[in-house]
Amino acid sequence: MINDVLYIVVPCDNEQEVLPGTNERLLSLLDSLVEAQKVSPRSRVLYVDDGSTDESWSIISGMAASDTRVTAIKLAANAGHQNALMAGLEAALPHAHIMVTIDADLQDDCTVIEQMVDRYEGGCDVVYGVRRDRKSDSWFKRTTAQAFYRLMHKLDVPTVYNHADFRLMSSRAVAQLMRYRERNLFLRGIVPLVGYRSDNVYYDRSARTAGKSKYPLGKMMSFAVDGITSFSIRPVRMVFTLGLIFLFIALCMLTYVLIAYFTHRAVSGWASLILSLWFIGGCVLMSLGIVGEYIGKIYIEVKDRPRYNVEQTVNLTDPKKHQSLD
Ligand code: UDP
Ligand code: MG
Repeated sequence: MINDVLYIVVPCDNEQEVLPGTNERLLSLLDSLVEAQKVSPRSRVLYVDDGSTDESWSIISGMAASDTRVTAIKLAANAGHQNALMAGLEAALPHAHIMVTIDADLQDDCTVIEQMVDRYEGGCDVVYGVRRDRKSDSWFKRTTAQAFYRLMHKLDVPTVYNHADFRLMSSRAVAQLMRYRERNLFLRGIVPLVGYRSDNVYYDRSARTAGKSKYPLGKMMSFAVDGITSFSIRPVRMVFTLGLIFLFIALCMLTYVLIAYFTHRAVSGWASLILSLWFIGGCVLMSLGIVGEYIGKIYIEVKDRPRYNVEQTVNLTDPKKHQSLD
């Protein structure tokens, strides 16, 4: 509706190559939505500079200076993609009825935002952008991503298949999201927990046009591990089950040894011994690693550090000085 204020939240980590093009496309999208009377003329694009070390912030400030529809916050240091999203949503919340998060490289098709807004009007509080396929991914990324979603499903983590962080949320859904105070953020898992009515819109994802991915293999894997260990204690239970299986094997071995002893058969070499030594050692270490992952998480959570520190804001006036949102 014409009274609904939309904020498009865009996290940026060294995105100088793509920012001007992205801004042009997002502003023209806002124009068309306003013209179609789907959102209020007070709608904005909000850039979150996540501690960029390139020219991103000066480009964003320049864009904000020439157009008041461009708003921005700059984080004092890199807080990571998920925290940058939270920072943007938190900053937008007092001003907006609807918030859409989208990556700065616009690999996700921003034109489907209109459909998202329609679904919101239809009564949905959360609308997930879901990729129709993974054709634009490399074979490796496609296979690992599919394996990851399948594993998450098996572990009962509520993720939407092929949905990344391109989604619409109503202000009340965002307000609820802010109550999830954990540091190990995996928004794709938390947003479904928030509940409310949701729907999917489908789009084709394109390749990155400029700049490079901020998710190299190592970071992607640690993100996946975060996703699993922040939501599921099944790996710990698996360690327990593994322990049981080992005890059973040990019991079988004991029986064998006893039989060998009483039938006076010679113990044949050390190969089996040394093999089991290595095998058990490896399993113990692996189990310790899994348990350690959880203890590490507890450690980080109890410290309760702020997720980010906002250094500066642009074109974001105090909402209390203006008319109230409703
Ligand atoms: N990003 C961020 N902070 C980070 C890493 C990434 O704000 O520490 C932003 C980045 O600028 C982009 C989005 O998160 O807008 C997604 O990153 P990218 O496109 O590199 O990921 P990919 O599409 O390759 O998975
Ligand atoms: Mg990208």
